[in-house]
Amino acid sequence: MAEPIATFGGALLAPGEPDPVMVVNETGRSVFFLACDHGGRSFPRRLGRLGLDEPDTLRHIAWDIGIAEVGRRLSAALDAALIVQTYSRLVIDCNRDPSVPSSIPETSEDTPIPGNRDLGEDERRARREAIFTPYHRRIAAVLDRRQSDGRASALIALHSFTPVFRGVARPWHVGVLFNRDDRLARPLLELLRAEGDLVVGENEPYRVTDLTDYTVPVHGERRGLPHVEIEIRQDLLADPAGQSSWAARLARLLPAAFARLPGG
Ligand SMILES: [Zn+2]
Repeated sequence: MAEPIATFGGALLAPGEPDPVMVVNETGRSVFFLACDHGGRSFPRRLGRLGLDEPDTLRHIAWDIGIAEVGRRLSAALDAALIVQTYSRLVIDCNRDPSVPSSIPETSEDTPIPGNRDLGEDERRARREAIFTPYHRRIAAVLDRRQSDGRASALIALHSFTPVFRGVARPWHVGVLFNRDDRLARPLLELLRAEGDLVVGENEPYRVTDLTDYTVPVHGERRGLPHVEIEIRQDLLADPAGQSSWAARLARLLPAAFARLPGG
């Protein structure tokens, strides 16, 4: 069931604008539940492009380049449910608690976001209600239904990262991120390292925290589900061949990692 997206008074999304939540293969039989919090780069018409020139809306500051395509291919390969958030993270970051300042950033990397400056509480609430809340309610609803159907779930949060951040090149091809629960991260790290052709980051280039993440802490940790956050470097996902190759690799390694879960 899609959540209503209208807000009263200052409705952010007009009829006909993209739904903030896209679910693919919801009834897929895989244990894996895939999420792309930063998969889209739409902007609500009412916000224009937040004052940015179009080239800035194509950069990694606006979305995770290539990852939704990996998600779609991985969903097909594993027969796994996939949820994609379709609006730019600059509108509201769906992998941040809405109470932290970086939820709606006034600056991203070194780029000022004019349309995010000095927002009032009404505008923040409108973005939260139109985009953040329906996305996370839908994740919760799908996971609740699987649980009531007696189905196991493992949450895979898919992200991509820029090869160069503030002038510093990042050596990792892929990062495996976790915080309190490394059950799935440990075997996946071992398997990725055993591939032999990869520089694998452990909690690089980021780590999962309650301030910088939301999907894993809330839907993975609090539910006690096995989970991992995967970051793939964006230059490796620049074309369909790269996206397919990463989807195929993860379709091979994720089930193998799951089979090595403690007690699994
Ligand atoms: Zn991301």
